[in-house]
Amino acid sequence: MPSFLALIHDDQWLKWGRWTLFAAVVLLAISMFAVVVQRRILYMRLGVPAVFARYRRKPQSKSGFSGQVLGHRKLLNDVRSGIMHLVYFYGFIVLQFGAADLIWKGLNDGVPLPLPYYNWFSLTQEMAVTLVFAAVLYGAFRRYGERLPRLKRGWKPSLVMWFIGLLMLTILFSLAFERLAQAGQPGMVTSSSKPAAHLVKASYAPVSGQLAMLLEGTGIQPQSAAARAGFELFWWLHLFVLLSFLVYVPQSKHFHLLTAPVNLWFRRSTSPGRLTPLNLEDEEAESFGAGKVEHFTQKQLLDLYACVECGRCTNVCPASNTGKLLSPMHLIVKLRDHLTEKGAAITSKSPWLPAGLWQSKANAPYAHVMGGVLPAWETAYEGGTTIEPTMAAQAGAWSIREAAKPEEVELIGEVLTEEELWACTTCRNCEEQCPVGNEHVDKIIDMRRYLVLMEGRLPSDGQRALQNIERQSNPWGLPRAERAAWIADCESRTGIRVATMQELRQQGKKADILIWAGSMGAYDIRSRRVLYDVVRLLDHAGVSFATLGLEEKSSGDTARRIGNELLFQELCRENIETLSKYDITHIVTACPHTYNTFKNEYADFGLSPDVIVEHHTELLARLLTKGLLKPVHTIDERVTVHDSCYLGRYNGTYEAPRNLLRAIPGVTIEEMERSRSNGMCCGAGGGLMWMEEHSGTRVNHARTAQALEVRPSVISSACPYCLTMMEDGLKALSADEKVIARDVAELLAESIFGE
Ligand code: SF4
Ligand code: SF4
Repeated sequence: MPSFLALIHDDQWLKWGRWTLFAAVVLLAISMFAVVVQRRILYMRLGVPAVFARYRRKPQSKSGFSGQVLGHRKLLNDVRSGIMHLVYFYGFIVLQFGAADLIWKGLNDGVPLPLPYYNWFSLTQEMAVTLVFAAVLYGAFRRYGERLPRLKRGWKPSLVMWFIGLLMLTILFSLAFERLAQAGQPGMVTSSSKPAAHLVKASYAPVSGQLAMLLEGTGIQPQSAAARAGFELFWWLHLFVLLSFLVYVPQSKHFHLLTAPVNLWFRRSTSPGRLTPLNLEDEEAESFGAGKVEHFTQKQLLDLYACVECGRCTNVCPASNTGKLLSPMHLIVKLRDHLTEKGAAITSKSPWLPAGLWQSKANAPYAHVMGGVLPAWETAYEGGTTIEPTMAAQAGAWSIREAAKPEEVELIGEVLTEEELWACTTCRNCEEQCPVGNEHVDKIIDMRRYLVLMEGRLPSDGQRALQNIERQSNPWGLPRAERAAWIADCESRTGIRVATMQELRQQGKKADILIWAGSMGAYDIRSRRVLYDVVRLLDHAGVSFATLGLEEKSSGDTARRIGNELLFQELCRENIETLSKYDITHIVTACPHTYNTFKNEYADFGLSPDVIVEHHTELLARLLTKGLLKPVHTIDERVTVHDSCYLGRYNGTYEAPRNLLRAIPGVTIEEMERSRSNGMCCGAGGGLMWMEEHSGTRVNHARTAQALEVRPSVISSACPYCLTMMEDGLKALSADEKVIARDVAELLAESIFGE
């Protein structure tokens, strides 16, 4: 009677048995994979139908898509992680062919696929396996050796490393045992004189060849039954790990392997500065904003399953960095967990297969809520910038509530706290860093919209600012009638009388450019000084300009970012009416928030897309290039540039302020470690200019401290909010005697006009 080992290769029935078993497990795994994917699609479809065609990338944007998917452009912001991920990405593509070949060999007595240049193919596979295995070890080192704060630790986040590591090891052992099984002579594993005809030459199998020699050293003889059994064992192990991984992928953050490219393809093609308008006249609408997870669009829900939990968003978030509870990664992950649990409850289809194996808890019903303790959070936060207390707090708070029905869990309050929603400055750095194209800000604003429009729930200082805007069209509630007072003040200080559009019309004249003072420019004494310098510079360059005076109103940006879409739309329509009345074709403003909403949002409500909207730095930079402005006086200052989020990340304007500074004799620019697209917010965006921070350190203090690290004499900005925040920060850090905060226009004016 033949031994079991002999049966393995010699018996025809065993070969067919192997084929049958192989087909069965593969079919089972693929069908499980399809079911879990289909269930998640079902959950996403609970959202508001998204017209995906609207999101489709314009042809010219495809390079951005391929740059991100194929080139890992965003992942390479962290070069080491980016390279590691590139190795995984391309390694796995290469290894698909090797996996097919290995499986084929296992089913056909070691005969490989009929591929050309097979030796070279084999060498490529060995190199890919080695590199991917090295990447796994490096990934483990980053998570547990370097202990990067943005990365989660524990068995679940590490499972993928085990999967990939085991996949690579089982390939190498399969190949090594294959060499042993097919070698011609004992002791000649790598250079046998009579190997099987299809055995790869030793020099093309450097890793598996060495491993085979080691195995031979342990006493496993070439061409022995033990060698064949070893191959069989590792071949099946490889198949088992591969298929388990296949089933696991859609049940974990690794679903991003499928969803991230789709998410990137359908990412927003309009400006990031444009929030989707609410149709407030929709009489059928039961609510506005997002008060339940199903209120998000299907595209927004796709974001949740695209998240890879890399923590890059939290790592740069000004709220997470200054001891607030908000963490954009946890925002996405908590929404995803909630969607999965609620989706399963609504559809009665479990997301887990095999049920109970991958899920957090086997016994239903249960639901994750923000119910746990907030360990080491506010007390652990010691100032400066660190995300660790926030990461720990989120991990501790997101916990299972026994016997809770997921469909009864409140989105706002139990999944996300109001405190988290009101901590967001809408700086968009989370989106800027996200490698899978997730959009966090629109979700936060949608939930704020629900709170404000449906529940009337918002912080009292935010409520006061909205009431003031409603009544007096400015956030302080200063008299509406004083909005034009800056014109007379400007004249007395500069000798330049800024005409209003109305005055010009009465005189039968027109101006080329409308200067939009904005609430800060019109009312705030410090911001007025910037506005006056802009006026002086435009006058000096011979530009024809006028303003609206009392006809100007709040742009509505603050109202919109706080969530009061109704107030925003009213202000927007009234402003558009005024702009149309005077046939305004060109608007210039010193406020990036006003600039952004005019440039990207007003068109949705009827402002002609032909109206040119410029920030003052853009216009001044053009005038400089044309030779209409000539800085002559030397300003010996060491200047650092604080980028406004709404100018930079929202509208891509980083160079205009710097070009102005470069043109000033004597100025040296010292860039902060976090600048341009990774610049940290001053803390005033998203309506937070008008709301108090209640935990951690103030964002503007942390940002000012970052600026002071490069030892500047001037912190320059191009935004009235940033200027205020930097000045306050300098006072708070007792640095205001040595360092001053100035708008770029002020420095330019000083260089052109002298002191
Ligand atoms: S927009 Fe800025 S503050 Fe808001 S979550 Fe993103 S990074 Fe944080
Ligand atoms: S949202 Fe994006 S950046 Fe944040 S953890 Fe997920 S994948 Fe990473």
